[in-house]
Amino acid sequence: MRSLRLAIIGLLLGATAPAWANDVVIHAGHLIDGVNAAPRDNVSILVTNDRITAVQPGFVTPQGAEIIDLSHATVLPGLIDSHTHVTYRRGGFAERLTGNDMEDALHGTVAVRQLLLGGFTAIRNVGADGGTDLALKHAIERGDIVGPRMWVSLEYLGPSGGATDPADGIDSSWHNDHWGASVIDGPEEAIKQVREHKRRGADLIKILPSGAVGNPGDASDPRASMMTEAEIKAVVDTAHSLGMKVAAHAHGKGAIDMSLRLGVDSIEHGTYGDAESFKLYKEHGAYLVPTVLIPELVAQKARDLPPQGGLSPAEKAAKITGVIRKMFHDAYLAGVKIAFGTDVAGLLPFDGNAREFAVMVHEGMKPMDAIFAATRNSADLIGASDRIGSVQAGRYADIIAVSGNPLEDITELERVKFVMKGGQVYRDDLKVAPHCVACMR
Ligand SMILES: [Zn+2]
Repeated sequence: MRSLRLAIIGLLLGATAPAWANDVVIHAGHLIDGVNAAPRDNVSILVTNDRITAVQPGFVTPQGAEIIDLSHATVLPGLIDSHTHVTYRRGGFAERLTGNDMEDALHGTVAVRQLLLGGFTAIRNVGADGGTDLALKHAIERGDIVGPRMWVSLEYLGPSGGATDPADGIDSSWHNDHWGASVIDGPEEAIKQVREHKRRGADLIKILPSGAVGNPGDASDPRASMMTEAEIKAVVDTAHSLGMKVAAHAHGKGAIDMSLRLGVDSIEHGTYGDAESFKLYKEHGAYLVPTVLIPELVAQKARDLPPQGGLSPAEKAAKITGVIRKMFHDAYLAGVKIAFGTDVAGLLPFDGNAREFAVMVHEGMKPMDAIFAATRNSADLIGASDRIGSVQAGRYADIIAVSGNPLEDITELERVKFVMKGGQVYRDDLKVAPHCVACMR
C-alpha cells in the first residue's frame, strides 16, 4: 500500500519513478552478500515491498525511502538451515506414545518463531509426521504465525525395521494407523509413496538408506545399508520426474556411495564417507549436509532410550562424534559442496541452531565458506537461488545483521541482532527500524 501511495504521489508531483518506488533503504556498514568472497563496506540495499531491488555502493537515500541504519553492523543474507525437524520432540518413547500430530504442530510454532528470530529466514524440513510441517509452512505463508520460509518433505521414507519405522523399538502390539506413511518395502511401494507425498504437498523427498543414531537396535546400526538399489532408484527417478529433490540420510559408506551413484541431491550426515565417496559427490554434483553439532547433543541427551540388541542411541552417537567431524574436515579439503544443516530437532532450543557454525570452523572450514554453506549453497540445494541465499537484486529481502565481524568470530552468528524477512522486520535489537513485527520494545 505504502509504495502504491508513494508511487501515486510521485506521479502527481512529477518525480522520477525510481526514487519514489523504493520503500526502504538499508545502509550496511559491512555487507557479506552470500555471493562474493570479499565483504564490502558502506553499501545501500534498496528494498521494495518484499524484494531487494538494488545493491549500490555508498549510502544513498532515495527520496521517500525509509532508512534502516545498519552502518555500524555486518549485514548478511538470511541464514538457511537445510536440515531441520521443527515438529519433532526428541524426548524419547514417551512422546511417541503419548503425543500426537496436533501437539507436535503446536510445538512447532514455537520452533519456527525461534528459528526466524535467530536469523534463519528459510529452512528445509526433512522429516515430520502427519503433515505437521506442511501445516506450519501454510500458517507462515498466511501470516498466522511467524517463521522462516519452509521447504518440507512430509514423512521421511525407509524400510520396515529402519529408523523411519515408528514401530522400531516398540512392542509389536502398539500400532497407529498413520505409521505406514513413512515405511516403504520394495520399489513399487517407494514409487507410490513418493507420488502420494507429491500429491499431499511435499517439496522434496527424504529417505533413510542407512541405519540411524537416534533410535535403538542393531537393525539400525548407522553403518548398515537399509535400502536396496532398486528402492533408492525408484525413489530418485520418481521424485525427479515430479520435480522434487531427494535428500538421503546416510551414515555408512555403502549407503552413501550407492545413493550418490543413483543420483540423490544431498547426503545428510555422511559420517563414514571416504575419499572414494568424496569423488562421487563431486562427479554427481551432490551436496553434503554434514550436521557436525548434533552427535554430541544426542550422546548427552539420549541416555534414557533403552538399548535393544546392544546398541543404544547414546553409544551410537558417542561413537560417531569424532568420525563425522574428521569426515567433514576431509570432505571440505577434498572440495565437496557443503550445505549447512543442523538436525538439532529439539535437542537444543531452536534459537541455538547457529552453534553449528562454530563446530564447522573449529574443524577447519573458513568462516566465509561456513557462511556460504548457510546461504548460497543451501539455496542452491533447495533449488531456490533465484529467491533466497544472497543479497542481490531480485531476491527476497531476507536480511540479517550482527554487531561484530563473523569472519573474525563466527559465534557472532549466534547473536543475530536484526532480522528482516520479505521486507518486514521481525527482530531489531539495534533499534533502527520503525516497524518491527515481532519486537518487544
Ligand atoms: Zn534429521
